[in-house]
Amino acid sequence: MAYDPNNIFARILRGEIPCKKIAEDEHTLAFHDINPQAPVHALVIPKGAYVSFDDFSEKASDAEIAALTRMVGKVARDLGCAADGYRILSNIGQHGHQEVPHLHIHVFGGASLGRMIN
Ligand code: 5GP
Repeated sequence: MAYDPNNIFARILRGEIPCKKIAEDEHTLAFHDINPQAPVHALVIPKGAYVSFDDFSEKASDAEIAALTRMVGKVARDLGCAADGYRILSNIGQHGHQEVPHLHIHVFGGASLGRMIN
């Protein structure tokens, strides 16, 4: 699937739409989900134009992959989830029910989450 430069997260990255920012570095942005499904629900995205985790895992540089991985852990720690645990999730494509076609890692925490979050 070709990358759509007008998807909502691309627009957040360009500053056209506001977000509740948590942290940012050269390669990555983290912000709160607009419709939280848990007491903590953050999204971590690469700044590069990657449709999904599948796309990212194939095309991103090692530096981008390292930055995203480290940012996910940092966000969970900074939002107080590390001690009791949390969940990370990325929906991919049609079968994964991905809604926004720019890779995002969900970080859920702040309560016992049950077995699955859809
Ligand atoms: P997906 O279903 O693609 O894995 O998840 C997309 C997520 O993006 C959803 O949890 C949804 O609430 C969130 N989302 C959609 N639009 C916006 C927005 O404009 N701002 C923020 N912060 N989150 C959004």
